[in-house]
Amino acid sequence: MPATVDALVVTCVDSPLHRADKPALAEYLRGKHVGINTWDLLTASGGIRDLVAADAGGRKEALLHAIRVVHDAHGVSKILFVNHSACTAYGGSARFRTLTEEYREHADDLQAARAAVRQLLPNLDIRLFFATVEERADGHFVTIDEVR
Ligand SMILES: [Zn+2]
Repeated sequence: MPATVDALVVTCVDSPLHRADKPALAEYLRGKHVGINTWDLLTASGGIRDLVAADAGGRKEALLHAIRVVHDAHGVSKILFVNHSACTAYGGSARFRTLTEEYREHADDLQAARAAVRQLLPNLDIRLFFATVEERADGHFVTIDEVR
């Protein structure tokens, strides 16, 4: 079945990524690094956290189910996982000593989440991203990088 969208994006509900007047994530996805125009958006508190967190309980199955439904309905072959710094579901940045430490935990979770989804849907192209959110006097500033 031909895909009806370019990708499925799984990310967090937190507003700095999705503000109507400054849609940082959408602009990044359309930009030269990713270059997609249409995507299904699946948001969950903590992004992919429920796929890997020990306290996720039934939310893990719910998120896997949602990914599978979108995959089956829209034929996506590409999934993008986007986590971010200062994420409420991760206890904010205050829980980490440094941004590097915070990045490392998210990168580890993103890679574990990719492994979990590949068990269910082995042939998907899954790319991982981390958005660094800085709070400034004039609002949030978001920088997104691919996690390798
Ligand atoms: Zn978040």
